[in-house]
Amino acid sequence: MTTTYQYTVSNNIRLSDESRNKSDEFNQIADNLPNNSIFTQCGGDYKGGEINGYTNKENLLTKERALTHLQDGGNVGIVLGKWIDGVTYVLFDVEETDILPADIESIIESHAVLTFDSPHLGRNRLVQIDSQETYDLLRSLSQGESVNWFRDGEKDDLEIITKGHAMIPPSSIDHTTCSDEKGGCSGEGEDRYILQSVNPTAEPIDYDTVDRLGELLDLTPSEESEPERPTETDIDVPSPIPKINPKKEFADNVPSVSHTFDDRIEYMKFGDWDGQEQFIQLWNGNFESVSGSNKQGRGECKLANYIGFFFGRNEDMIRFIMSTLPFETHYQKYPRHRKNLLNFTKNVNWCYCEGVDFERKLSVATNIWGNDTTTVNELAEQTEISKRQVRNALDILESEDLIRRNKVGRKRYILNDGVTQGYVMELEKICEKYEEKGDMNEQTNNSNVEKVKI
Ligand SMILES: [Zn+2]
Repeated sequence: MTTTYQYTVSNNIRLSDESRNKSDEFNQIADNLPNNSIFTQCGGDYKGGEINGYTNKENLLTKERALTHLQDGGNVGIVLGKWIDGVTYVLFDVEETDILPADIESIIESHAVLTFDSPHLGRNRLVQIDSQETYDLLRSLSQGESVNWFRDGEKDDLEIITKGHAMIPPSSIDHTTCSDEKGGCSGEGEDRYILQSVNPTAEPIDYDTVDRLGELLDLTPSEESEPERPTETDIDVPSPIPKINPKKEFADNVPSVSHTFDDRIEYMKFGDWDGQEQFIQLWNGNFESVSGSNKQGRGECKLANYIGFFFGRNEDMIRFIMSTLPFETHYQKYPRHRKNLLNFTKNVNWCYCEGVDFERKLSVATNIWGNDTTTVNELAEQTEISKRQVRNALDILESEDLIRRNKVGRKRYILNDGVTQGYVMELEKICEKYEEKGDMNEQTNNSNVEKVKI
């Protein structure tokens, strides 16, 4: 549970109250931050430090000294990007309130220990960083530059400030001291930083969250300084391109009656199946049809699921085909995304095979259900289907991880690993549905592409 305290600051504070109000406001901030020397000493009515080296550790102020400095008419800030007793802060500075996309806004907001508005109507959020690796990633993503993707124009919509300091309430500035680069500046009068909320229980932002933020902001770590991921999760993320011969892999391990690798690609891209239209859009990097946020990330997961369906849920095949997509993929760029995507494809529990219709698959499955082991001959007898067709259906069931094949001496057995009553009943339902549509023949039967759920 987090608690956010809201403060409203009156616009016309009487002078005699101002000093007390300023102290109160500063205390509200300082009491919710670690009791360390984290404050910077700033000049009376301008942005920036009052002395040389004002962000050096030896020049930082304790809470008490910062308060005294404020009461003497000075301004204060908080140092950024410096580890002080294990704590570091950065600042997310949004040019105007409410311009961030909601998903990005909610990530930053949930980690904000301090939210305040600047004299130029920007919204600032102070966020604690959980580790050096996270900090390095954030530095690498922001590259000391500003982020400017949300609106057209010359202004920086979002700045991620990772060093120096951030002026905080109740500091105030005289606009005549402002450089005119800020569009929100009137050039005259005095305005102050205004506290909006403090949230002492906000969690420090971690590596994965910064990674995700980078993805949402479409930021790529700068090449020379891309930091290592701190966790062990990197170890088991497969590389984007597998070392396989795709044609051989297809022939050996993907259910198929007469399709070659190229036939299957052709059918997946241009064949007559429900969802093909959306599929080809996604294939070409058009994610309009994907709902929600992070359309490209979700769209790529959907693509991968389809590929899994058409290629026997074969991870090497999925990786190979994902690596051939004709646009710049998150799959290639982000190991974490790649890992999630490949895990996600394991949710696909049905596979496609041309030329095997549901009726035959159902007959074979029904005769496997209830038996621990069986053979192709037995199945052919029971189902009155040719042995070749039984084998084709078994290829699909094997790719779906429902059966295994075993050999004892010269005799080959089929072991039932997961053909349950539930599976058989689901297959029956699909058969009925296609019967109603009069669509049971193998030319147009798409072996339930619709089972690919996202
Ligand atoms: Zn100004």
